[in-house]
Amino acid sequence: MKTIGLIGGMSWESTAVYYRRLNERVRSVCGGLHSAEILLRSVDFDSIVAMQTAGDWDGATRMLQKIARDLEAAGADCVLICTNTMHKIADAVQSAIEIPLLNIIDVCAQQLKAAGARRPLLLATRYTMEHDFYRERMSRRHGLVPLVPEADDRTAVHDIIFGELCCGIIRDDSRQRYLEIIARGRAAGADSVILGCTEIGLLLRPENIDLPAFDTTLLHADAAVDFALGGGRLARRVDSADPAALASDIGPQIG
Ligand code: GLU
Repeated sequence: MKTIGLIGGMSWESTAVYYRRLNERVRSVCGGLHSAEILLRSVDFDSIVAMQTAGDWDGATRMLQKIARDLEAAGADCVLICTNTMHKIADAVQSAIEIPLLNIIDVCAQQLKAAGARRPLLLATRYTMEHDFYRERMSRRHGLVPLVPEADDRTAVHDIIFGELCCGIIRDDSRQRYLEIIARGRAAGADSVILGCTEIGLLLRPENIDLPAFDTTLLHADAAVDFALGGGRLARRVDSADPAALASDIGPQIG
């Protein structure tokens, strides 16, 4: 099994979801007491928000590049930036390391395409909805046509993320507000919804949305497990019906 490197803490509320999902997924694939090999570097989110607010994306790039290099040096086989927003600088972070950075935008786009979606409504932070890195990558690389809510609705989506979800506050009226925004997106022609901020899954479950919905946190974590097990001993073991192969992978046993 390969080691998954996480740049987390943005916010830790969603990094906790990553941690649980990675381990649950490895257990469900590999069985027994198996769990994910993880290196986690969790930042003080306040310092990241200060850089976002100041528009200091260069400072944020230097910080995440250093963390990615540290994870690589510590033995990570891949890196995940556990937030959609900071994928604004994902290519620069990738350029600082040799191991692959699993890009959340590509992971989500692949799932959208596999489901036949083409015009997803993007719910995310203001940076993700309004800067061009996310929508542009989805359209240029994947041929998708992401839509974003109207200005007032974008403000509400953004404020609920930072003022509530990143602080661990989950409110019914905010869930209702998101559902109303999704209804307006549907009326405007959206055929699906991207939960394009890693905390939105704390508020809304895809099964509560009356359009196909894609939770980027879960999709990103699942892609990391696929990477970690792909072609590895444990993946082969699960795929294999050969008891001798199983025994050799399990190794010496007591009794
Ligand atoms: N976790 C959020 C995201 O996926 C927002 C936090 C941040 O600004 O990095 O975009």
